[in-house]
Amino acid sequence: MKVRFWGVRGAIPAPGPETNRYGGNTSCVSVTGRRGQLLILDMGTGVVNLGHQLLAGEMGRGEGRAAVLLSHAHWDHIQGFPFFPPVFVPGNRFDVYGNAHSSDMLEGILEGQMDPNFSPIYTLKNLGAAIGFTPVAPGEVHDVLGIKVAARPNPHGHTSALAYRLEEDGAALVYASDAGYPPEGPGRDVLDLYRGADLLIHDSTYTPADRATRLERGNSSYADAAAAAVAAGARHLALFHYDQDYADDTVDEMTRACRAELDRLGGHGIRLTAAAEGLELDV
Ligand SMILES: [Zn+2]
Repeated sequence: MKVRFWGVRGAIPAPGPETNRYGGNTSCVSVTGRRGQLLILDMGTGVVNLGHQLLAGEMGRGEGRAAVLLSHAHWDHIQGFPFFPPVFVPGNRFDVYGNAHSSDMLEGILEGQMDPNFSPIYTLKNLGAAIGFTPVAPGEVHDVLGIKVAARPNPHGHTSALAYRLEEDGAALVYASDAGYPPEGPGRDVLDLYRGADLLIHDSTYTPADRATRLERGNSSYADAAAAAVAAGARHLALFHYDQDYADDTVDEMTRACRAELDRLGGHGIRLTAAAEGLELDV
């Protein structure tokens, strides 16, 4: 699988000279399978640039198909959806997977985003593409365009966010954005989902000091990410979903501190990468 980061910020977009290196768009990661299948992890503002690129191919001719795996529907994870150019091209198809008890409920959450009070789109039915909705229950395994997908919910403030595991040809990618673990760390089911991941993309919104003052937001610090990676035996950790107020230099410092934390916990062999817009990784 080929992974590309299109947006790595949390909460709100953070454009500006101090965030140019890591990028200012909110959460979006594309995963391309061996046969070219496209899975999109979250649709923050980063998905708009992905959409522009996709228009050059099948999506521009109305012959495209992709799956969207939503961790949850906080603004920073769906804000790019009504501005994602391929959804306006008739003939394209998108299958949205997410955290809901039914497909109607999942559709209703995204329909709410189109409400005329918030959006000129008015209703999902005004998007030209066909859109399907599939709820993902904990423990279920879905075949998504030939990639094996499983999910578990993490506590996230007053709601929960799904962490996803994607497997193809024995390689495993885990996407765990917006995880606010209790003091004892991730639950056993969640650690099993992360287990042995070749790449663990993990919420690293805060420094430990800032997280301590914002526990109710339900996000991780880089130290939480390091602890989860070590506990799960991940091979490669990617820091992700940085606080919008952190300049690039702060993310650099967090990455150095995370390396030290991994080593302190015995995770010397775990590779560490700070996710940045445009960065590509092979899994
Ligand atoms: Zn978020």
